[in-house]
Amino acid sequence: MSSFLLDLQIQKDFKFYEFITGTYNTMPKEASILALENLTEEVCQNIIKVSELAQEIRDYFEDSLIITCGFRPLVWELKQGRTGKSLHALGLAMDCYLTHIKLEDLFVWFNKKYTDKYGRAINKKLNFCHFDLRPNCVSWNY
Ligand SMILES: [Zn+2]
Repeated sequence: MSSFLLDLQIQKDFKFYEFITGTYNTMPKEASILALENLTEEVCQNIIKVSELAQEIRDYFEDSLIITCGFRPLVWELKQGRTGKSLHALGLAMDCYLTHIKLEDLFVWFNKKYTDKYGRAINKKLNFCHFDLRPNCVSWNY
């Protein structure tokens, strides 16, 4: 079941696993195992929604979008000493970067495109943008 799910092509350029393990397996193995154990129908639907945003970015920039982190289950977040309030815990967020496009350019584009909804943050040190599907518009720096 889970290997079938992980290999599922959920968008033209994205497979399901990328939102569980990261495109290049950047998530800790334990986090990915817990993610699979804690998948619900709601989380799966949320991952699909986030993958639609990923595909939109991929199509606009015509560049590979690398997902470094998608769904992080609550149990993992609490184990890490986090609040568990991150939208990653619902599958509604992703951390990502484009292969050939500057992080700042992705961040600027996102800010121009979505002015009244979604969360966004840029982490230059760790080279990723965080995007999430919250209904209101929130922006921050790490
Ligand atoms: Zn994030």
